[in-house]
Amino acid sequence: MTPALLCIGGMDSSGGAGLLRDAATAAEFGLSCRVAVTAVTAQTDRAVSALHPVPPEVVAAQIAAGASGARAVKIGMLGCGAIVRAVAAALDQTLDRTRVGVPLVLDPVLRSSSGRDLLDPAGLGVLIETLLPRATLLTPNLPELRALGDWLGLPPGAEAAAIVAALQARGAGAVLVKGGHAEGATDARDRLYLPGAEIREFTAPRHALALRGTGCHLACAIAAGLALGQTLPEAIGRAKASVTARFAAAGRADTKASFETGTMP
Ligand code: PLP
Repeated sequence: MTPALLCIGGMDSSGGAGLLRDAATAAEFGLSCRVAVTAVTAQTDRAVSALHPVPPEVVAAQIAAGASGARAVKIGMLGCGAIVRAVAAALDQTLDRTRVGVPLVLDPVLRSSSGRDLLDPAGLGVLIETLLPRATLLTPNLPELRALGDWLGLPPGAEAAAIVAALQARGAGAVLVKGGHAEGATDARDRLYLPGAEIREFTAPRHALALRGTGCHLACAIAAGLALGQTLPEAIGRAKASVTARFAAAGRADTKASFETGTMP
């Protein structure tokens, strides 16, 4: 039987991010994908025009239906505190009853790249209290790391390492800080903080293209690697390679499109 991932997150009607991106990523790694939809959004690449949260009890029912036998769990957009609470409770009831030690990758999605909040401020606090201690890996980008640091009361401008230490003191396991938002950087440099170990860096070339759903893609590919029994560094390395390949393919398509346009009569 094909091993399954359970992906908990939002539907992006444009298909760029969210659960459709997760399903494509799971398929790339040869896994099937079960989903628990937390919110339905209407989006283009430029704006989110509607956001409809799914009732928390319906989110919990989807998890109860899909968690049994899943080899790993990936969490993305959650929307609001009530849904975060429902997800944590449903995971406790289903995963702990069926299997212990299912890896959980938590992508603390706060905002779309078009600027719409995808988790309300109360939701961030609930996420820190309920889901953080359950996460095998947390995958914040730099703005998300800062928001987590603010919530924990760290001073503005606190170093990434200090925020990670505060998150780990609250029960987080490994933290992968994604450097894609770093100003002036020439490559995409992500740093893995494993408790009690040296920091490990993962770099990939930085692309001029802005692609949607790269955070979803990376987190889901890491969850897929963990589901297949890879170590965390191995899963992260392969996940970065998968995202890089998507950028390369999109770049080729872009070049081809402009070439074709340029040669049209
Ligand atoms: N929409 C949904 C439903 C998402 O889950 C996410 C990210 O997880 C986004 C939008 C944000 O993606 P992007 O950064 O490409 O806007």
